[in-house]
Amino acid sequence: MNIIEKHINFHKALLVVSLLTGLCLGNHALGQDSKPNFIVIFTDDQGYGDLGTFGHPTIKTPNIDQMAVEGQKWTSFYVAANVCTPSRSGLLTGRLPVRTGMYSNKRRVLFPDSDGGLPAYENTIAKLLKEVGYATAAIGKWHLGHLPQYLPTSHGFDTYYGIPYSNDMDRVNDIDYKEVFIDPKYQNFNVPLMRDTEIIERPADQNTITKRYTEEAVKYIKENKNQPFFMYLAHSLPHVPLFTSDDFRGTSERGLYGDVIEEIDWSVGEILTTLKENGLAENTYVIFTSDNGPWLVFDGQGGSSGLLFGGKGTSYEGGVRVPAVIWGPGNVKPGVVSKMGSTLDILPTIVSLAGAKIPQDRLYDGFDLSPVLKGENQSPREEMFYYHGDHLFAVRKGDFKLYYYSNNPAGYPEKLEKLEMVTLYNLVQDPSERFNLADKHPEVIQEIEVLAKKHQEKMVFGETQLEKVIIK
Ligand code: MG
Repeated sequence: MNIIEKHINFHKALLVVSLLTGLCLGNHALGQDSKPNFIVIFTDDQGYGDLGTFGHPTIKTPNIDQMAVEGQKWTSFYVAANVCTPSRSGLLTGRLPVRTGMYSNKRRVLFPDSDGGLPAYENTIAKLLKEVGYATAAIGKWHLGHLPQYLPTSHGFDTYYGIPYSNDMDRVNDIDYKEVFIDPKYQNFNVPLMRDTEIIERPADQNTITKRYTEEAVKYIKENKNQPFFMYLAHSLPHVPLFTSDDFRGTSERGLYGDVIEEIDWSVGEILTTLKENGLAENTYVIFTSDNGPWLVFDGQGGSSGLLFGGKGTSYEGGVRVPAVIWGPGNVKPGVVSKMGSTLDILPTIVSLAGAKIPQDRLYDGFDLSPVLKGENQSPREEMFYYHGDHLFAVRKGDFKLYYYSNNPAGYPEKLEKLEMVTLYNLVQDPSERFNLADKHPEVIQEIEVLAKKHQEKMVFGETQLEKVIIK
């Protein structure tokens, strides 16, 4: 080989190297583009027992049931609080509501006259994902502040379509509170429907609201199929008053409540079908869960906590343990997970799967569940702290839950009382909390009390946002 041939070969080699490098860079770029999508479907006041896959005998939920077969069904999944506003803040920030100010002993959720909301300082899942190039959308009920500075578009979401607080607020007539829910008319609730920061309809026609959220979600998936996206779809139902579209009214054996759940199940089916038809199923995680237990005081209009004790407004299991299904074909190992998980874990899990970063300038209350989703590990969550307003109502560690307070199990009217003697239940053997084991396990009580003390010593309470009222 003469010097010229050597020179040519050297340049050929260089060309090959640069081509390979280019390919690698190309693949890297592809890798960036193939970041997974996330959809969180969050229902309102749906109980632990209100899905076919969680044992309801007459509510038909074939789409969510199939999701559970193909994905993971979590049977000890907890919300951050037993009512709407604090629960939602916990999911979106990964922090207990007492840290973020989204708690109060007097006004337990935000109302149309509220002047507060989720503080700008807080990081939401959407805000963290935006930093790594995600498109973000919130659809449905927000309930973290209806003033412009608190709306989804001020908290990392590119777009918002939905109602800013609960569907029973802004009641316009003086019919008896419970009476108005028996045969609900949307005209009796002057709730606004918003797009971004503008009111586009008032009162919102709630008969078609699940259908319209679904159309919005399907459209969003199709429009964003070529870039990573996070969609938070927080249904405003089955919170009372109950509404369904004509297609579902009178169709469920369970009655109106069943109609509502079955329409939500249809909605889940539409979303999964859209993902499959657009080639996104293998690159999307879908999480389905509820914001708190059923509203038991509304009798048949409220849901069921199944075998669990208590409902919405309490931190007994029925108020805080919710049905949860996580789906991601090829990414989520199918199975039933009976170890603990929480909506507080959704932020660290999504952030980890997206390759985003969690700012280390504050404390979080969530765990990264991604190794559990992959089937590599058991859940890292060994403990759960249940707050009622600013009171530490109960603490779970492993199989046991220790109570410091008692309450009306139906939630309303609230009868919060500090217990003279703590009570202890083994939730693995006794999920219905029937047998107080406090006398039998003083060592477990001591262990949990040490944990609770450590937790309380480090707790810094945020300034409450829920007691600020607009002065007219
Ligand atoms: Mg709720």
